[in-house]
Amino acid sequence: MGCDGGTIPKRHELVKGPKKVEKVDKNAELAARWKYCALSQERLRRPIVSCDLGRLYNKDAVIEYLLDKSAERPNTEAVVHIRGTKDIKELHLTDNPEWEGERRNAKGDRYEDILKGMFICPVVGLEMNGKHRFCYLQTCGCVFSDRALKEVKTEICHKCGDPFKGEDLIVLNGTKEEVEKLREKMEERRARPKPKTKKSKKSKEAETETVSAPSDVAGPSGSSSSSSEDTKSATASASKRSVQEMEEKSEVFKSLFTSHSSAKRTKEQTSNWVTHTPYHF
Ligand SMILES: [Zn+2]
Repeated sequence: MGCDGGTIPKRHELVKGPKKVEKVDKNAELAARWKYCALSQERLRRPIVSCDLGRLYNKDAVIEYLLDKSAERPNTEAVVHIRGTKDIKELHLTDNPEWEGERRNAKGDRYEDILKGMFICPVVGLEMNGKHRFCYLQTCGCVFSDRALKEVKTEICHKCGDPFKGEDLIVLNGTKEEVEKLREKMEERRARPKPKTKKSKKSKEAETETVSAPSDVAGPSGSSSSSSEDTKSATASASKRSVQEMEEKSEVFKSLFTSHSSAKRTKEQTSNWVTHTPYHF
């Protein structure tokens, strides 16, 4: 035996291998993809959307990203392929009647059964917990388990009756290889010529113009009534630059709008100037 004065225990006798822990973490990570938004990392809640690559998002998080793509936020690499609302589809999910959400045990600790899915397949009842393959139909947004789609061959959606083709199926949270294939499919589809591309380009240009415009207005005017709105849009456009610059700018804007005392002073001064200038000279 070790530790009796004669032998020195080797490392592997003292430390239990870390491999098991890694495996658990990986399972938890995979399960988390079915419960948390791939962008905001917040818990998934309706309306839930998916993309051409089969990731799950809260719709509000994606919309927020689309409104200002340049803002600094984590996980943007998960959504760079989403160009607009046309690239996302709202999912029709089926609630799991056994899902109870977060619970507390006797000690008051929060816990959650990792294998419990929030949603199930409406056809065969499998839980959407990461253990089973699930797909959504890009045509209608309905979600089914792979098993249901294989067992009941159909070209009409099980849930809403819309017709679909095999190419409309997108696997949700697929493997690396599956996501790669979906990406190829997406790029191929986007490369196809579309008659309306000119229009969409124009509207995009108009959008960028309206975004850049308020920063010019916000600086010098700073009227107390619209100041909060001005600072918002101004910081949004400023965030296009580096974080440091943005922080500097926001400080400037803070000094412009939040220091009411200085603002009042200048108001009094300017009102004096106005009354003096036109009437006395
Ligand atoms: Zn459907």
